[in-house]
Amino acid sequence: MTLLNENYLKLPGSYLFSTIAKRVAAYKQENPGKQVISLGIGDVSRPLVPAVVEALHKASDEMGRAETFRGYGPEQGYAFLREAILKHDYLDRDIPLEADEIFVSDGAKSDVANFQELFDVSCKVALQDPVYPVYLDTNVMAGRTGGFENGRFGGIVYLPCTEENNFIPQFPKERVDLVYLCSPNNPTGSAMTRPELKKWVDWATENNCIILYDSAYEAFITQPDVPHSIYEIPGAQKVAVEFRSFSKTAGFTGTRCAYTVVPKALQVFDRAGKPHCLNALWLRRQTTKFNGVPYVVQRAAEAVFSPLGQAQIQAVIKGYQENAQVILQALRSAGLIAFGGVNAPYIWLKTPKGVDSWAFFDKLLAEACVVGTPGVGFGACGEGYFRLTAFNTPELTQEAARRIANLKF
Ligand code: PLP
Repeated sequence: MTLLNENYLKLPGSYLFSTIAKRVAAYKQENPGKQVISLGIGDVSRPLVPAVVEALHKASDEMGRAETFRGYGPEQGYAFLREAILKHDYLDRDIPLEADEIFVSDGAKSDVANFQELFDVSCKVALQDPVYPVYLDTNVMAGRTGGFENGRFGGIVYLPCTEENNFIPQFPKERVDLVYLCSPNNPTGSAMTRPELKKWVDWATENNCIILYDSAYEAFITQPDVPHSIYEIPGAQKVAVEFRSFSKTAGFTGTRCAYTVVPKALQVFDRAGKPHCLNALWLRRQTTKFNGVPYVVQRAAEAVFSPLGQAQIQAVIKGYQENAQVILQALRSAGLIAFGGVNAPYIWLKTPKGVDSWAFFDKLLAEACVVGTPGVGFGACGEGYFRLTAFNTPELTQEAARRIANLKF
């Protein structure tokens, strides 16, 4: 008899997106002539920009010639890409990192999911509620939680993010070893300002806690007082790991490339209290378990940082940012209270009194033919909220907005 990892049995099925798909399919069947518009997806709609496509073609040709062919590459990423990331995202922002503190990967999802492996199973984890579900689920799989009861896992410290605290998490009241912070946030669209993030870095320093900082949406920041990197805060290199992605920044959701920064100043401790370098441990983990990102994809990611690539991706991001404003205005015209959409591609609206997240989903589908995501799918504190995304085309976003603006509550 082969025993399974019973932690997997603790996970409730991932019903959110399959339930949405089922309800949408049923609606389409009953209303065959109607055009359903999705503002529910977290995927982009714009294609790769020309500078990236050109780099892909060029690198593909290199792979077909004996003189330029590449086999296994460095698991942590080619120097050309690590140097480009370092210069553009850190040195140009006066953040003194080094290239070997940057690890290229196939996704921020894989990295935020895998990183917890480096910590003992007894480590206490805190995370925002609501939030991107991968942080929680991977800690459940690793055995760092109890069972699931009344919408909560035992052993996890939930940090409620609600209208009352402006969707910014408050410090845990008990001791924690790891805290996941997602800013700009999926799903609430909120982003921490420099003073707010500084408080967290100072708190982590005082409390010997490590921050796992997911800034997959930093490219959507528009306000100057919102940091793009946690390392803009003095002292953060001693307490924080940062996750970044080309997915939403440059339309790489299908192409796959991301990176994680693990500063050499960041230490973890063995049971005897001896410090160890987290950077060296992550290198060990990646070189053993990860094959690296394809050469052609890394060349494509490098092209994102060229002047032409930057101009082209900025134009795409601007289009999504405009979509967010269109959605926000429509919601306000309908008399709804909405948050986010300023530093993130997500709009987080408050459902009207007495209408829960799923009832709002049904109403939006039935009366506007628009699909969104019930907030409760991102955590118990998401009940009473609803997420819309700015990733659809301008035309469909405008049409969805027109319908939303006419809704009556
Ligand atoms: N982090 C957050 C907060 C996300 O919302 C997502 C994707 O939706 C990811 C990470 C995953 O990024 P990637 O496509 O690089 O795996």
